[in-house]
Amino acid sequence: MFIAFEGGEGSGKTTQSRLLAIWLRDQGFDVVQTREPGSTKVGMRLRAILLDAVHQGLSARSEALLYAADRAEHVEKVILPALYRGAMVISDRYVDSSLAYQGAGRSLKPEEVARINAWATGGLVPDLTVLIDTPPSVGLTRLGGAADRIESEPLEFHERVRREFRALATADPGRYLVVDGTLTQEEISGAIHDRVREILPD
Ligand code: C5P
Ligand code: MG
Repeated sequence: MFIAFEGGEGSGKTTQSRLLAIWLRDQGFDVVQTREPGSTKVGMRLRAILLDAVHQGLSARSEALLYAADRAEHVEKVILPALYRGAMVISDRYVDSSLAYQGAGRSLKPEEVARINAWATGGLVPDLTVLIDTPPSVGLTRLGGAADRIESEPLEFHERVRREFRALATADPGRYLVVDGTLTQEEISGAIHDRVREILPD
């Protein structure tokens, strides 16, 4: 089973994906917790390029292609091998992050970015995507000024990102759980457990 976490800056994806991994391991499941970008050797180098403020002004198309390359490595080297051996995979970000950031945030169209990502991933789609929906003003404040290249984009960029995430979830409610990111950590993980329980194998 493949579960992806999505959301804007400071939404709590990393914390919640870690909590879900612990919860599943406590039940005896084999869990691989991973993240994008940067979960493979090449991916770590791509992450450094993508997040370095030195590359401010990287063209939108090359940015989208580099994220897609990171994801292709991630799927082939980490996610698919884990799924084949029967593990649960929990990824902090996946394709929707590219549709939201490179598609809606940058000058590209989400449909175009979807096409290159369908190719990069061989069409691998999560069984469940958890969207932790947080107003950018709240998320960015939580990060407390530790801004990387993307985080230093204007608020309006992050508002477009949030709108796209929400639109993706609305278009395919069966595959998404949308949780209000302003709830407490316990309330959020409770909502995630309730939903994941429904799709767990017996
Ligand atoms: O999830 P994390 O905060 O580690 O992501 C690192 C940065 O990469 C974030 O600032 C995020 O906005 C950016 N990002 C992006 N496009 C993606 C994935 C991540 O701009 N497809
Ligand atoms: Mg970040």
